[in-house]
Amino acid sequence: FDLPEVDAPVLAAIDARGQGLPQASGLEDTLFASDGQITKRPIRALTLSALAPRRGAHLWDIGGGSGSVSVEWCLAAQGATATTFEARADRLENIRRNRRDFGLEHRLTPVEGRAPDVLKNQPLPDCVFIGGGGSEALLDYLWQILPQGTRLVANGVTLETETLLMQAHARRGGHLLKVEIAEAGPLGTLRGWDRARPVIQWSVTR
Ligand code: SAH
Repeated sequence: FDLPEVDAPVLAAIDARGQGLPQASGLEDTLFASDGQITKRPIRALTLSALAPRRGAHLWDIGGGSGSVSVEWCLAAQGATATTFEARADRLENIRRNRRDFGLEHRLTPVEGRAPDVLKNQPLPDCVFIGGGGSEALLDYLWQILPQGTRLVANGVTLETETLLMQAHARRGGHLLKVEIAEAGPLGTLRGWDRARPVIQWSVTR
């Protein structure tokens, strides 16, 4: 685990508590700057497990949001790097902030733009995550350019993306997972289960 030498506020804050940064993926959501559009901790942990980061591997994080998946990818394996593609300029700000706070300025590259166009002329990755911007056009494009052996993981919460991923699974194989999570929350003076929207996750090796 290579702790960065650079100024890294999040790591410093955790260190001040004398705990060190947890080594497992699925860090607390509150450690990341975000506008609420962030893959929540349990789903992020499952996503990182499916992405299976390895030493020196490069990730394309398409629809990066806050960049939390890219950050955890970089933290999970020595020398792992990520390019985070995000369409919205305001979210790029959060990605840059998280990159700095986690001391990953040398390993995480934020790129503003819309997939698939923004992917053109980018150095090819070992692994691709689609957290937003999933479309038939994007999958077709990736299938065309990615070398065999490239891993791809896509998450969807909308009916449209669910349909896309179910069809992609039928056509191209791989593994389809449906994650339904509930967390305990207050229900009047007692407690009840707060259900999160189901997440569909398609994993495949090109
Ligand atoms: N995994 C992220 C959350 C992703 S939310 C995290 O943990 O923070 C999905 C994101 O995809 C949104 O920020 C949205 O702006 C972005 N997005 C949607 N369509 C896109 C496209 N075609 N290209 C790039 N980004 C896109």
